Formats: sequence, C-alpha cells, structure tokens
Amino acid sequence: MTDMTGWSVERLHADHAQALRADRVLYDSETAHQRLRVIENPTFGRILTLDGVVQTTEGDNFIYHEMMSHVPILAHGAARRVLIVGGGDGGMAKTVLTHAAVEHVTMVEIDAGVVDFSKEYLPMLSEGAFDDPRLELVIADGAAFMRETGGGYDVIIVDSTDPIGPGEVLFTDSFYGHARRALAPGGVLVTQNGVPFMQGDELTNTMRAFKALFSDWTCYLATIPTYAGGPMAFGWGTDGEARQVDLETLKKRFAAADIATDYYTPEVHLGAFALPPYVARLMP
Ligand code: SAM
Repeated sequence: MTDMTGWSVERLHADHAQALRADRVLYDSETAHQRLRVIENPTFGRILTLDGVVQTTEGDNFIYHEMMSHVPILAHGAARRVLIVGGGDGGMAKTVLTHAAVEHVTMVEIDAGVVDFSKEYLPMLSEGAFDDPRLELVIADGAAFMRETGGGYDVIIVDSTDPIGPGEVLFTDSFYGHARRALAPGGVLVTQNGVPFMQGDELTNTMRAFKALFSDWTCYLATIPTYAGGPMAFGWGTDGEARQVDLETLKKRFAAADIATDYYTPEVHLGAFALPPYVARLMP
C-alpha cells in the first residue's frame, strides 16, 4: 500500500498502523488540548479522532459504550450515582442514562471543545444526553476532580483517551487511589485499558495498581473493530461483591432495566470476564 491519499492513517503503535478511508473530512481543528478531526467512512460513518487516534465511530461505538456502562451498572444492581471521566462525545453519558434507576451522572471532561463539537457533528452519539437534567457536566481535568471530589459514586467509568497527552494522568497510581476513595461502599471502577495484544504494558500497569487497591480486581474484554489489534481490555476494581452476580440475577436486572442493546447481554457480560492465556499472563 503506497498511495494513502484519501485515507486517514492512525499510528498509535510503533510498528502497526490502521488506515480508514476518509471520503470526507467534516472537521479538522486544534482545540485548547488536542487536534480534533471528524472524517466520514462508508462502513463506520462519522469517525472522531483526537491527535490522530480513533476515539469513537458512529458505527461501532455501541460495543464500547454498552460494555463500559451496562457491565458495572447491572453487576452493581443499585447504581444511582455514576461518574464518567472523559467521555466528551456524550456516548457514554447517553448509555448510562438509559438506566432509569440512575439518578445522577457527573461527567468530567477536560476539553470543552470535544463536547461542543460532538453536539454539532456527532449528535447521534449523545442523542440528547447533554440536555438530560440528571447529567451534570464539569469541564475540568479528571485527575484534579478525583483528588477533590467528596465521592459517593456507585460506579466510576474512565472513558479516557490513551495514556498520551491529557489522558496520561488518568493511568497513574495516584488517580486510581483517589478513584477508589471516591467510590461508595460496593462501588465499581471501570477503565479503558487499550488493546492488550498491542498495549500489554498499559494493562499490566493498571492491574498492578488495582491489585494494590481493591479486593476484587481483573479486566474484561470486548472486540471493537476500530480499536485495532484484537479485543480491548476494561479494568475492573471493587471492594464489593458485584462480580459474584449470577446469570439469573443479571437476567432479572437486565429485564427490569428494560434497555435495548446491540452487544450487551447477561451472557456476554459473564463471558467477557473469561481471559485467554495471553491476556491472563499480563496480570501481575
Ligand atoms: N473511547 C475512546 C478510546 O478509547 O479511544 C476514548 C473516548 S474520548 C470520549 C476520551 C475523552 O477523554 C476525550 O474527550 C478527552 O478530551 C478526554 N480526556 C483526556 N484526558 C482527560 C483528563 N485528564 N480529564 C478529563 N478528560 C480527559
């Protein structure tokens, strides 16, 4: 492949790149924090990139958002207060807010540019979530917020960029320590931890921190086509019993929540925690 004219090339890894055909560039600009682009691709629809790295696409975002929202919320069983760190496109907030039992969502995003722009160019991701009275949007660094928050969250979802640029602080031991303190008793922390086949160290580092902090820590997996290189890992940490939930209980909670999904099912939920040996070996 030599002529890449009309393609958007992501070089997240040292020796692997991903190219997505860009039929149109809808937006390309520098925010105060990062370079933001939106391209249009026939298979994935609109694609948001930050500093050249795919963040979310119209086509496959449901897998990521459903697995980071429904897994901790339904495992917890009584989540009322949810904190999202990052998540500027609004897709995570929308998915969390499909749970009628969730009373309050705080979303802490560092870059107001991503939020404003997503409302205009990617409204299909947030679908009005920014207007939901249960959502409180805070424009701030998630690490600084976590240090200072009074806490009491049943579920914390770290919907961050990769550990480069502004997202780096969201992968530190001190951030995870503050996140643990911000959880209500029985609360669950989930984090995006990249694709272990390509970014194994990232997962190992987070898991090492979780091991020191939580009585129950692991990761679970889901395959998202535009996060290339195999399944993505989500960190899971809690001092509660949420991972012990059985299939029948999950099925009851899922039915009671009455939410439509395209990836999540209670069976997928439990299966996602089964780790193939190459991922299990990355656990400290
Ligand atoms: N799903 C994507 C992925 O894994 O590639 C990430 C989603 S994107 C919504 C991540 C968001 O995290 C961006 O909007 C970015 O501005 C935000 N972010 C990065 N660093 C942050 C920080 N320190 N505090 C709060 N938000 C941050």
